[in-house]
Amino acid sequence: MKGKIALVTGGSRGIGRAIAVKLAQEGCDVAILYAGRKEAADETVALLEQAGSRALAIQCNVADGAAAEAAVREVEAQLGPIAVLVNNAGIVRDGLAMRMSSEDFRAVLDVNLTGAFHMIRACLPLFIRRRAGSIVNITSVSGMMGNPGQANYASSKAGLIGLTKTIAREVASRGITVNAVAPGFIETDMTAGMNEAALQKGLAAVPMGRIGKPEDVANAVSFLASDAASYITGCVLKVDGGMYI
Ligand code: NAP
Repeated sequence: MKGKIALVTGGSRGIGRAIAVKLAQEGCDVAILYAGRKEAADETVALLEQAGSRALAIQCNVADGAAAEAAVREVEAQLGPIAVLVNNAGIVRDGLAMRMSSEDFRAVLDVNLTGAFHMIRACLPLFIRRRAGSIVNITSVSGMMGNPGQANYASSKAGLIGLTKTIAREVASRGITVNAVAPGFIETDMTAGMNEAALQKGLAAVPMGRIGKPEDVANAVSFLASDAASYITGCVLKVDGGMYI
């Protein structure tokens, strides 16, 4: 992937950081978007530069369509033509459906699903003109299995699978691939807040008996973004230790 330019949303921490670093190790120059944690974003930039990448971090709320467009323009101006888009930015606001506020439902959809749509819409005209590009969306096994307490999150992630398959069909003839990676239970800030009982319950559902690492997800993303996966589009690759078989 030498010399390719990759854009990873939510690249300041967790899975997004691991994806950014992996793509840098594979030879990409990498831009990351983040919501607000500048220090974390700066740490990722330092790791990317250590890996030999030109790197750029932009604060951008992907739920804001105009901000997403502006970020894509800035990445192209500073680094060059984007070849790989990874929609990884995501949030949770868990709670049982009957007590979930409309605001909490909408906020998760706005970032996880509409945010990915905004990024795709901003990049697609560029990819279509160049007849090249790969898009990888980070969904979740929650979107495939459902998960009590995650009506908003599971809906957003199921929607992301529909979005992946639809865009894959829309642009397959233009040399653009669109795939999704569905992590199971991965060790990041998102899961660090879980109490011991919830953690044990989660682990019990993983046939491999261990929590996944952000790097496990990054390896799958890097494959789908590479030329080795050029005949793969519209797929959902699970990285879940067998959680959803
Ligand atoms: P995380 O550690 O909470 O990191 C979330 C990242 O998204 C951060 O970089 C954050 O930026 C960014 N972000 C949040 N809202 C944003 C917004 N509105 N605009 C732009 N960036 C935004 O999450 P993670 O565990 O690495 O998860 C990454 C992705 O994997 C998510 O889509 C998540 O749903 C999915 N996933 C995770 C797991 C898991 O077990 N961890 C399982 C399945 C799927 P700041 O640092 O600035 O806040």
